[in-house]
Amino acid sequence: MLTDADQALVNGVLAGERRALAKAITLIESTRDDHQVRAQQVLNALLPKTGNAIRIGISGVPGAGKSTFIEALGMWLIKQGHKLAVLAVDPSSSVSGGSILGDKTRMEQLSAREEAFIRPSPSSGSLGGVAEKTREAMLLCEASGYDVIIIETVGVGQSETTVAGMVDMFCLLQLPNAGDDLQAIKKGIVEIADLVIINKADIDPRAAAVTAAQWKNALTLLRPTSPNWQPPVIALSALHHEGIEKFWEAIDNYRKALVPTGEFDARRRHQAQAWMWSLIDSGLRRAFHANPTVLSSLPAIRQAVDTARQTPASAARQLLGAFLGTPFAQTSPTTSGLGT
Ligand code: GDP
Repeated sequence: MLTDADQALVNGVLAGERRALAKAITLIESTRDDHQVRAQQVLNALLPKTGNAIRIGISGVPGAGKSTFIEALGMWLIKQGHKLAVLAVDPSSSVSGGSILGDKTRMEQLSAREEAFIRPSPSSGSLGGVAEKTREAMLLCEASGYDVIIIETVGVGQSETTVAGMVDMFCLLQLPNAGDDLQAIKKGIVEIADLVIINKADIDPRAAAVTAAQWKNALTLLRPTSPNWQPPVIALSALHHEGIEKFWEAIDNYRKALVPTGEFDARRRHQAQAWMWSLIDSGLRRAFHANPTVLSSLPAIRQAVDTARQTPASAARQLLGAFLGTPFAQTSPTTSGLGT
């Protein structure tokens, strides 16, 4: 049951009040148990009003032009009558205390607009934790009437796969030089890109065209993210606001290609299931580490493993047994698969 105050918060979010939205996001970002219970109630109340936005992930190395691009896109979208929310997944913010979106001046024009809501990455927690909060913040923004959600992430580490797992379309922002391409290919990020942007095409249009052609080539050699979609490559200049319509046209084409086949919704359903399982995994892990029986038997068992008096497997079984309060029986694989 929602308290009157939380019902007012829900109403405020639904009415598109920015203060209410910001407050609701702060509530979901809180690590306090009672706040978490309230946050889930608020989210559940808002859930029927979510899902009506296009969710776009934008990734690129620092300096690639992400904030310049998002600002240009945002200003253009506002002119077309859209409302956009910009969120970030930046696990490094928990180390630096800052965030890729922490500095509002990065999107000066956009942040001054009523139609745009910009929220920096939560500044604490693991990548999983940060992503979880961002995903929930995205739902709140949708309930609040934002019809375009941009999730920005830095082009390093695991955060790209994480963001690709929560958006409809994952876009890679690249610079016009080959070194960059190789990096992305090496890291296996190209495979998850639904669209590639070659930014800063104004500096050397020819080089940008060459890079775009190389990317197109590379992408045709890969298995596309969908059988109904060949990821396009778009050269543009975020700084000069050139090529933004081409980008939006590609987003439209993507929707036209994937919505009628049911693939668009299937991807969201799959993401929701995967999200649930990842929350179960992290919840179990937390419960395990907080379990008093586990905590009391842990030192002796760790020592037994350290001194080779107990195998890691038997130690794990013993601890899992202590956690479950019953001997732990690992379901054994059927022998049929072993070829015996
Ligand atoms: P981010 O770290 O990926 O968010 O990159 P920024 O948006 O902060 O951009 C980094 C630098 O590149 C800034 O000095 C921008 O002005 C510049 N920049 C971004 N887009 C373009 C572009 O299309 N053309 C040119 N010439 N410079 C750009």
